[in-house]
Amino acid sequence: MGGKKYAAIILSAGRGNRMKSKIPKQYLKLRGRPLIYYALHAFQKSQVEDIILVTGKEDVEYCQKKIIKTYGFSKVKAVVPGGKERYHSVFCGLSELERMHLKPDYVMIHDGARPFVDQEIIMRCIKAAELDQACVAGMPVKDTIKIADHDQFAIETPERSLVWQVQTPQVFLFSLIFEAYQKLMEQEKQGIHISVTDDAMVLETILSKKVRMVEGAYKNIKITTPEDLQVAEIFLKNS
Ligand code: C5P
Repeated sequence: MGGKKYAAIILSAGRGNRMKSKIPKQYLKLRGRPLIYYALHAFQKSQVEDIILVTGKEDVEYCQKKIIKTYGFSKVKAVVPGGKERYHSVFCGLSELERMHLKPDYVMIHDGARPFVDQEIIMRCIKAAELDQACVAGMPVKDTIKIADHDQFAIETPERSLVWQVQTPQVFLFSLIFEAYQKLMEQEKQGIHISVTDDAMVLETILSKKVRMVEGAYKNIKITTPEDLQVAEIFLKNS
């Protein structure tokens, strides 16, 4: 693409309580390799120049020694501790890019728990980000979605063809997303709380910026529960 500089933030600081395992899910073995290996490998192979890995405070050293060094992920420029919620961890990654003066034009934010991101998805996101400054991988939902009230009564049925399931990567002009996150953190300090579950939301709510949906893949699942690990084993067996 037009000589733009890309960085990636790989998020791996979640506690993964739904996995019901003592080992953090990102370090569980999948076909002999830690889960986090697969996302790092995809971005190492891509045109991204610099990668920041965000992980739990207690796992920083393990990642540096047992993952970055062992597998030779030369693009990982820093391993930094994350925060309480996902969006805090994203801010840690963005701040590290700024602190290290890596000056990317665009940043790709990716869940380390999504091992099946591939070069096609990464390329589609890069193209869309260069056109529209902000994009998110996702897939149209297969099931009908209902919005329910607090008593669990269905109150709305959005038109299925317009409903997307959100995945990562989420890709943004670095200056734009960093500004939005800085403002979000300022608001949080002042006690204004927004429930943030993806990065696009931060742009939409803080800067009223439109975010383009890009086709990800149904295979680009997030490993959350033990069942997901079984599915991942099958995907890897067939790849
Ligand atoms: O919790 P959830 O499944 O939404 O997490 C998505 C990704 O964000 C995972 O890769 C997880 O490790 C990461 N995360 C993080 N810091 C948190 C919570 C989640 O880096 N505080």
